[in-house]
Amino acid sequence: MCRLNFSDKNMMCDYHLHSEFSFDSSEKIEAICEKAVQSGIREIAITDHAEFPVRDSAPWPDFRRRAEVLDFCRTRFGENLIIRSGVEAGQPWHCDCPGKEWSGENLDFVLASVHELDGYPDPRTYAYTPENTSNFIHTYLMQMTAMAEKCDYDVLGHVTYLFRFIPEEIVRAIPPESFMEEYEALFRTVLSRGKGIEVNCSGLRMPSIGKTLPSLELLRLYRELGGEIVTVGSDGHSCRSAFTGLETGYQVLRDAGFSYATSFEKRIPAFYKI
Ligand SMILES: [Zn+2]
Ligand SMILES: [Zn+2]
Repeated sequence: MCRLNFSDKNMMCDYHLHSEFSFDSSEKIEAICEKAVQSGIREIAITDHAEFPVRDSAPWPDFRRRAEVLDFCRTRFGENLIIRSGVEAGQPWHCDCPGKEWSGENLDFVLASVHELDGYPDPRTYAYTPENTSNFIHTYLMQMTAMAEKCDYDVLGHVTYLFRFIPEEIVRAIPPESFMEEYEALFRTVLSRGKGIEVNCSGLRMPSIGKTLPSLELLRLYRELGGEIVTVGSDGHSCRSAFTGLETGYQVLRDAGFSYATSFEKRIPAFYKI
């Protein structure tokens, strides 16, 4: 049974950060921690990539080595910063024994994301046209809903990720908000499992998007359906991008009707005032 902890302290946390233990980042965890303290961040979760299927091009973190670095940083930064051990699991429906992959790694937080679709080309390089995009988005949302239903996770990552790669003129015609029925089904699945979603601030750094992933409108829908568990993260892959957009992310959450955001310790949610 989940214990729910509430804190009335206003604080900022970043629950989506990549370090040199991710295949696509070279940032030292210690440097991220230093910037967090300088930026007035109270708590961080390092969510390095573990992509399924496991490929040579996207090797998994060395969790043992990372645990040593995290412990070193906890000692160094002490009371000034709470440092959580997380993972961003990509397409975890491919794992044979959900949750067992890292059961020995003592994780605080598991973010589940869809970066690739089964049976489709890479979303980053797909040849989107006005004719094929709607079907591609539909498939993305179906596969994410299936993941939300059966995988081991705490929070779903960037639920409008695909829209990062679709040409602007197509997104204008079919924005994420034109898939409300599919998003409602996704959120209801998340809620039925007692899980959550994130406000990913990376979209704010992209001029073609300029919004959080997901947007205010979708966060309102999640809230109306009873959504309470929500983390906020920059998805920073370097000290430069770490913690950017968090204040806007919290404002979007407040505008969507949230008074609390969520942090995790040993996979148990706690709520802090925003
Ligand atoms: Zn991601
Ligand atoms: Zn990420």
